[in-house]
Parts: sequence; C-alpha cells; structure tokens
Amino acid sequence: MAPLRGQSETDVLVIGGGIAGATTALHLAERGVEVTLVEGDQPGGGATGQSGGLVAPDYIRHSPNTICDTLGADAGARLTRMIGDSAGFVFDLIDKHGIDCDPRQDGFYTPAHTGVMAKNQRAHADQWRALGYDVEFVEAAASERLFGSQRYSGALRFAAGGSLNPLGYVRGIVRAALDGGARVFADSRVISLQRRGGTWVCRTREGTIRSRRLVLAANGGNAALHPAMARTSLPLHVVQFATAPLSPQERMATLPEGGAFTDKRPYLFTARTDGLGHLISGYPTTLFVRSERAQCREAERRLRQNFAALPDPEISHLWRGLAWVNTSLLPEVYDLGDEAIAIQACNGRGIATNTALGAEVAEMLATGDREVLSVKPSRPEPIRFHAIAALLPKLLMSLAYISD
Ligand SMILES: Cc1cc2nc3c(=O)[nH]c(=O)nc-3n(C[C@H](O)[C@H](O)[C@H](O)COP(=O)(O)OP(=O)(O)OC[C@H]3O[C@@H](n4cnc5c(N)ncnc54)[C@H](O)[C@@H]3O)c2cc1C
Repeated sequence: MAPLRGQSETDVLVIGGGIAGATTALHLAERGVEVTLVEGDQPGGGATGQSGGLVAPDYIRHSPNTICDTLGADAGARLTRMIGDSAGFVFDLIDKHGIDCDPRQDGFYTPAHTGVMAKNQRAHADQWRALGYDVEFVEAAASERLFGSQRYSGALRFAAGGSLNPLGYVRGIVRAALDGGARVFADSRVISLQRRGGTWVCRTREGTIRSRRLVLAANGGNAALHPAMARTSLPLHVVQFATAPLSPQERMATLPEGGAFTDKRPYLFTARTDGLGHLISGYPTTLFVRSERAQCREAERRLRQNFAALPDPEISHLWRGLAWVNTSLLPEVYDLGDEAIAIQACNGRGIATNTALGAEVAEMLATGDREVLSVKPSRPEPIRFHAIAALLPKLLMSLAYISD
C-alpha cells in the first residue's frame, strides 16, 4: 500500500489504520462520505495486529448492572447494548465482506478464579440473559473439561464471542473500505497536524492533506497528534505467543471444543486455538521477565501452570505488543472541537468494541446525529501525575507476577 504523496484534500481524514480507524473509514465510504485514512505503518501495525484475536463482548471490570451505577441507567444500558452486540457485529462484517481471517464464533469465556468471583459471575450471567443475550455460567467441572485446566471455579460463557486472526481481519476491513471508495495510505506517519482557516492540515513525510473533519484513531499515538489528547492513557506492555501446532492428544485435552478465554487474575492469562492447531496466549510484561529468552520461559511456565496436557510446551512464535488503557477501563470518544473527534478505546480489549465504535462514529459523521453513539463524547482530561501513573501498569503487573 502506497504512502501519501503530494497535496490532496478530503472531507474526513482518519488517522490510524487499526481496527477503530479502518471500520470508521469503511462505514464512511459505504455511506458515500469522502474519506481518507493515513497509517504510519501498514494497516494493523499497532495493537490490532499484535493482539491475541479474542472477540470479547464483555466488560473488563463491569457488569450490565454495575455500569448503570457508574454511568447512569440510560448511558449504561446503551453501552451494554453496544458491547453485548459487538461480537455478532464483527462476525457479520466478516461474513458480509468475505474476510479471510480464521473466524471462530465458538464462545468467549471469562473464567472465575475464586468462589466469590464465581458467585458474582452467576449474577452477571442472569443480568446479560435478562437483556436477551446468550450468556451462561458454566460450573467448575464443565469448565475444567472445556478448558483442560483445573485452575478455575467456573466461567461466564458468551455464545456470540470467539476469536479471529486480527491482522487478517483488519486487512480485510481496509480492503473493503478501499472497495467502497475510501483512500488509504500506509507508511504515512503524521508528523504535524494544524488547524488553519477552518481546515485541518496534516503533514506526513512525503505529503500534505487538508480535511474538513478529523477522526483521531491512532490509539496511544493520539497523544502526540492533538494537545488535548496528551497524557490521557497509560501504556500496558503485553507478551503474546503461539505454540507449535498441538498434537491430536494435546488438542483433545486443551480447549477441545474451541472457544477463547481471558481470566480476571491480576496477572492475567488468555488462551485460544487457531485453525492450524496453535495455542495462542498472552500475559502482561513485568520488571522481572525482560529478555526474549526469559519471556519464552515464562510463556512455557504459564502454559504448564494452566494446562495439564501441556507439561512440555513448545513456543514457536513470541511477540510483544503495546496496549493503551484509559483509567476508566471503558471505551472513550473525545470531542476535540473544530470538527475533530478521537476514539480512545484500546484497553487491551478493543477488537470487538472498536469495530462497533468505528461504525457508530462513521454513522454520526454521516448523519450529524450524536445520539447514534453508545459512548457520549466528552472532553479529554489529562491523567494527573501522568509520568508516574504511566509506570503503574508495569509495577502492578510485577506485583501480580510475584504473587502468582
Ligand atoms: C498484545 C496485545 C494483545 C491484545 N489482545 C486482544 C484480544 O485478544 N482481544 C481484544 O479484543 N483486544 C486485544 N487487544 C487490544 C486490541 O488490540 C486493541 O483494543 C485494538 O486493536 C485497538 O485498536 P485501535 O484501532 O484503537 O488501535 P491500533 O490498532 O493501535 O491502531 C492505531 C494505529 O495508529 C497508527 N498511528 C499511531 N500514530 C500515528 C501517526 N502519528 N500517524 C499515522 N498513524 C499513526 C499506528 O501505527 C496504529 O496502526 C490486545 C492488545 C495488545 C497490544
């Protein structure tokens, strides 16, 4: 994909070719809006392509009831609807555009690692079911069989969730956006962004583009693009890895019916398998496990710790990723004034959410109706003592590692 060169103009400029920017561009193009997307790397070069590919229609820290206590009944209900529907939306988009990304709608689980959490999750399952979602609590014995792990006291199961190859997915969305009429430029890092005479002027190394409206979808990169976005999110470093294809015996004992899970331990653990039989998993980085060799040994330890059938796992691929988290751990949309909006919704859990959010932002820009957004746009607030706060995720994960 070529870089931006020379001078051009567009109605909406989207900066960032991860899943948030790509779905925004796709849905704008489908609605006949002139849209251009610029990406500093290749599409998917940020968190999206690095991700584990779990399609998770669940909150990180909330339930349908607790979100209403936090945001109010109306805003809470809207966000729950968006998150609850997000996985189905992803798999429907894949179907609609024939995207080759190993989609598996075989369930997303959040396992409970304590009896108290299991009790809470039974209540969460009731809350989701009352809203019409296919969510159940799987008791401990069943979860042991479904995961091949004895570490859990049961799990919430979201039938609409699952997994996919995230790089294949975002590339497919970009391809669909191009087919729909969007212009997309790769290797086009934005090095300056200014407002001049009612127009946004965006410069990359080789080109300049002017736009009437702007969507910042650069994840952590938003901070450097607009002064109001500085110090609004915190970095969370994550190690992802894949095993060599599991043997038939290992496969029969490890996630034998498919599905994907992320647990809620502070030192969290995730797992899914793909179409080639790799087990793909991840964990947060800490101060204690730094070199690639140490991270590989830690990956092996975590697999042994979780899966009885993998006493001697072989790691075939290991990569590092950078997720950006909001202090709310909720998706945020920021109104920057001057026809500019920012999507800041990574939180290490944005494959499904940011797909849905991108589509909503596109609808809002196409129709001018802000009510279509499930996340009310707010003004960004810098995180206090950001330089110190930015160290917290790694420090907290290091403490969690020690207690693990
Ligand atoms: C290791 C890891 C594992 C994860 N696993 C999962 C998972 O299993 N399931 C899940 O739901 N979520 C997961 N996540 C989170 C998920 O990947 C993100 O929430 C989601 O991909 C964020 O999408 P995005 O489009 O907002 O950001 P990104 O994908 O980061 O896209 C932002 C893009 O902006 C570009 N950019 C930045 N600055 C500039 C600039 N100045 N000019 C031009 N372009 C710029 C970047 O190159 C990047 O491509 C994981 C994240 C990581 C890091």
